[in-house]
Amino acid sequence: MATPFWNKEIETAERSRLEQLQRERLRTTIGWALRTPFYRKKLAQVGIKAPDDIRSLEDLQRIPYTTKDDLRLSFPRGLLAVEMKEVLRVHSSSGTTGIPTVIYFARDDVDNWTDLLARSIVATGATDSDIFQNMMTYGMFTGGLGLHYGAERVGMTVIPIGGGNTKRQIQTMKDFQTTVVHITPSYLLHIHSRLGEDGIERRDLALRKAFIGAEPHSENTRRKLQDLLGIDAYNSYGLSELNGPGVAFECVCKKDMHVWEDAYIAEIIDPKTGEVLQDGAQGELVLTNLVRRATPILRYRTRDLAFLHPEGCDCGRTHRRLSRILGRTDDMLIINGVNVFPSQIEEKIMKIPEVATNYQIHVDKKGSLDRLTVKVEIYPKLFLGEVARLEALKHRIVEELRASIVITPGVELHEPGALPVFEGKAKRVVDERPKD
Ligand code: ADP
Ligand code: ZN
Repeated sequence: MATPFWNKEIETAERSRLEQLQRERLRTTIGWALRTPFYRKKLAQVGIKAPDDIRSLEDLQRIPYTTKDDLRLSFPRGLLAVEMKEVLRVHSSSGTTGIPTVIYFARDDVDNWTDLLARSIVATGATDSDIFQNMMTYGMFTGGLGLHYGAERVGMTVIPIGGGNTKRQIQTMKDFQTTVVHITPSYLLHIHSRLGEDGIERRDLALRKAFIGAEPHSENTRRKLQDLLGIDAYNSYGLSELNGPGVAFECVCKKDMHVWEDAYIAEIIDPKTGEVLQDGAQGELVLTNLVRRATPILRYRTRDLAFLHPEGCDCGRTHRRLSRILGRTDDMLIINGVNVFPSQIEEKIMKIPEVATNYQIHVDKKGSLDRLTVKVEIYPKLFLGEVARLEALKHRIVEELRASIVITPGVELHEPGALPVFEGKAKRVVDERPKD
């Protein structure tokens, strides 16, 4: 399944060539990092005082990990490696788990990042004939401007609509015959549920592809979106600390995401011990920038759980593929001592045909016990049927979930529109247990 390449030489480079590039660029990056107060100190602690102290890719393992807290503590300029005058743009993370962090881009950083996105877009088979509606939030969040620049570089027609305002999104998709959208999977599910309201149906739209990212989602959610809308949906992964989207993106094969290894070094580590794991083993993703001068980040612990595929891809690209994100180390729920990832729940409920497009995971305490309730929206016509059938459906959902998460959750069935809607990253888990 070949598609055109954006930069064939790099995208299909032999591993030895990629590693040579990584080695060279790592040393350059160390040079940049040593200009920041934060890394000067951190690297000195392990005896790294100059780029030449790193000779091989194995030497990477001498470098201590960087954490989100390091980034926060370095606010505002502890990780700035250039003069402020050279900074072209400032971005920050969306702050899902606390205070946002700041990232600076020099002109060449924006240029390199844009190129990674252009490469990612082309890998999905999208072209300069496509009409691209960017439904991600603009502003400091990297999902807006990142894809925007990449799409312009490819030569797509870009509609910079940003997030939210569902009626207007649908109208715009119709008016301009949008063919490609960039959106969170939860919001695309919601958009689908609102089709038909203002007389605009699926057949009035020209949509054929979606880049879905910024939040965890299961393969079953992708399938559901593809089936409901009759489109191809491609997983897109990135985080602002490492530029934003364009770290890893699915190609036409849709079998997980190529990490652009000329721009990042990806490692998978055991989140408990910090030990580096082999390809194929699941653990925490650690990323190192190779082409970012203004805020170079070394061995960043993403807290995202995934694995790297050891084998190649049919598209011909040699850059290793990252699995979909299986959860964040910090989003695991402990319910009466049992570990549960929200992704396990999502995977199960999204394959049940009666379940519509929204759900919520609710946790509270009853007496001394934790109580897990999964609230799902189901299609309205089901509420017209007999109560017994609703009970049977509920029972089926409980059974599906129990098989996967071991504990028995409560299940509530709701009409569409009853649960909160998110226009950006969805907040699926409501944990009302008292914090101690
Ligand atoms: P944060 O949400 O940490 O404030 P960002 O806005 O930079 O900061 O979001 C990056 C995070 O979003 C990633 O670390 C990851 O947890 C999540 N994310 C991004 N893309 C995906 C994806 N395709 N699948 C799953 N999770 C994703
Ligand atoms: Zn591929």
